[in-house]
Amino acid sequence: MPERGALAGPRLLLRRLREAMAEPVSPQARLDKIVVHIASNMVAEVCSVYVLRADGRLELFATEGLNREAVHLTTMRAGEGLVGLIAESAEPLALSDAQSHPAFSYKPETGEEIYHSFLGVPILRGGNTLGVLVVQNRARRTYSEEEIEVLQTTAMLLAEMIATGELQAIVRPGAELGMRRPMALEGAPLAEGVGLGHVVLHEPRIVIKQLVAEDLKAEEKRLEEAISAVRENIDRLVDHGDQTGPGEHREILETFRMFAHDQGWLRRLREAVFTGLTAEAAVERVQNDARAKLQRRPDPYLRERLHDLDDLANRLLHQLTGLPFVTANDQLPDNAILVARSMGPAALLDYDRKKLRGLVLEEGGRSSHVAIVARALGIPAVGEVPNIIDYAEPGDAIIVDGSSGEVQLRPPQDVEAAYGEKARLRARRQEQYRKLRDVPAVTKDGVAIDLHMNAGLQVDLPHVEETGALSIGLFRTELQFMVASQFPRMEAQVELYKSVMDATGGRPVTFRTLDIGGDKILPYMDAFEEENPALGWRAIRIGLDRPGLLRSQLRALLRAGSGRDMRIMFPMVSDVSEFVAAKEMVGRELRHLERHGYTLPSSLKLGIMLEVPSVLWQLDEIFARVDFVSIGSNDLFQYVFAADRDNRRMAHRFDPMSRPFLRVIKQVVDHARAAGKPVTLCGEIGGSALDAMALIGVGLRGLSMTASSIGPVKAMVLALDEQDLRAEMSRLMAQDDGTHSLRAALRAYAEAKGVPL
Ligand code: PEP
Ligand code: MG
Repeated sequence: MPERGALAGPRLLLRRLREAMAEPVSPQARLDKIVVHIASNMVAEVCSVYVLRADGRLELFATEGLNREAVHLTTMRAGEGLVGLIAESAEPLALSDAQSHPAFSYKPETGEEIYHSFLGVPILRGGNTLGVLVVQNRARRTYSEEEIEVLQTTAMLLAEMIATGELQAIVRPGAELGMRRPMALEGAPLAEGVGLGHVVLHEPRIVIKQLVAEDLKAEEKRLEEAISAVRENIDRLVDHGDQTGPGEHREILETFRMFAHDQGWLRRLREAVFTGLTAEAAVERVQNDARAKLQRRPDPYLRERLHDLDDLANRLLHQLTGLPFVTANDQLPDNAILVARSMGPAALLDYDRKKLRGLVLEEGGRSSHVAIVARALGIPAVGEVPNIIDYAEPGDAIIVDGSSGEVQLRPPQDVEAAYGEKARLRARRQEQYRKLRDVPAVTKDGVAIDLHMNAGLQVDLPHVEETGALSIGLFRTELQFMVASQFPRMEAQVELYKSVMDATGGRPVTFRTLDIGGDKILPYMDAFEEENPALGWRAIRIGLDRPGLLRSQLRALLRAGSGRDMRIMFPMVSDVSEFVAAKEMVGRELRHLERHGYTLPSSLKLGIMLEVPSVLWQLDEIFARVDFVSIGSNDLFQYVFAADRDNRRMAHRFDPMSRPFLRVIKQVVDHARAAGKPVTLCGEIGGSALDAMALIGVGLRGLSMTASSIGPVKAMVLALDEQDLRAEMSRLMAQDDGTHSLRAALRAYAEAKGVPL
């Protein structure tokens, strides 16, 4: 750490700058004062501020030392000259002989040719470059590490001025600032629909109100205390594994711990406070640099580590400010578009549905549970949008197109109008789908396809009537458990299951018993640490090991089904013995209810979710025992290809529309037919018109999907010639062309045959 005396200058500078920030003068006058203070404090002849515009050019906004006439006239491209180089690389650059640098380019109107030494730093916010701050000296000199530090710290103040929009007042028409520029981003479509609204950060960014320390000692103490508190917290999490929220696995915590004890990181924080920043500003300063550096690295592993560092910095900021971790419902505007890096399904369910218009995630694949919940709630959602959290400011206008995967941040008026039109068009198309409600889903050559609906929340239920689904093919009971604050009591469960059956107008409901574990965590249940949660203690495995839980759910289901037809299926069955054990449990519950004088269901069908590959080699034994099978393609696909359904990097590598996976489906369908047992599919692919077409082509006759997919899938079915499709599928499946995905071929087929997708 530098000597204390050596930094009196920087601290004085920060104090001067703080005064300049508080003065009631115009933004230009403030900038002009700031450059004078910096130049004089750093004993430089020149200090200039360049700000990045929306057109990608850097504009000279203020200078001390260069020709004043050049202000707002001199501009350069990112990458052009030394200033452009700094903007592009987001790294400081210190040169004792600037003119010999290969990137040097000289702007005659500024009169800078007489200055030899050059020190420039990026003006950063959240890892994005907003501008460049430069000092220059006539003499050849070497700038010290400390001077670079000081200039970086000063650049934070400028970042604040730019980000808060203060400079907006001195922007010339047509030369808008980059910070607020409209951005069209592209991600993966997760949930259908178009949402227009305003950005709400799921984990709100902490706005640092005071950058410059009043009392240095006090700030040092605050920083040290916050570091210890965060460290203790993390150590406790690692050691005990308690209080872990969804997704916080041991590995992440270990990485946290590593960073929290990283001496380099801690030193940089302390140094930043030492230069005169508040503890919060120091955290932001150090994090900005880390972001700028890591974001530009091609190595995805390093970029991933940036997330850990971000989380850690965030924890420190929350510790320092005492502010809450997630946005509270009462702070939601009426048209909130949630923006998050990642989110568990329970977190999404915590928000007031009525106020949510959309969801944008930096991560999250189509079959992640948060995507499933978004679809169930009818919230348009897009995933895999890189760096959206950095680009979006709370309150920014934003449009989410969950059908195409487009996200428009701060859209210009014409774009907004176009999307408004798109939303209206979609509503019209929905109207047409509604007209199909009572039309049976039968192909042109007379093959009936049963379309069912997936549900799990009370809000889903009215859709059964609206869509004309034949039944609820999958009721995910765990979603209700996830929104509850404590384990639902027996009576509450009975009431809930009854209300589900009441709401479906006599249509059957297939209840799936609790599928918890993996990323589906009950807030009131002890969290447990697992290396591989997807391969861990999940679903029926918990149900059989903790029979009390499953038994009470079964009892509630059977009581709710009193006098009615009842369908129950078990998730994640891997072995026939598990089904046998579960069936025995059902038998015991039936006997218990009978003994106590309850009316039993008038019929009871028991089935399994086929989602673990081991079942594929027990099809005879399974089909001999079950009443029905529902293929859980989300999990089955991830296990067949050994590709985590939530892992962004895997999202494009493997496609269910590939020979191996379609062969698996065909094998199950053929077996079911031979055994005379019904089989449906309830994974997300059933709701994609193209995928559903291929599934029908390999023989499936029942699909269960989100409500909004039923219309489009039915429209597709109505246009099909099943015999022709079957022939095409046999041809495609038999081909050995060494390729993976059949998607393009399927799309071409649909186009040629006029099948709407
Ligand atoms: C599946 O795995 O396909 C399925 C429908 O269940 P879930 O998505 O709830 O795991
Ligand atoms: Mg599953």
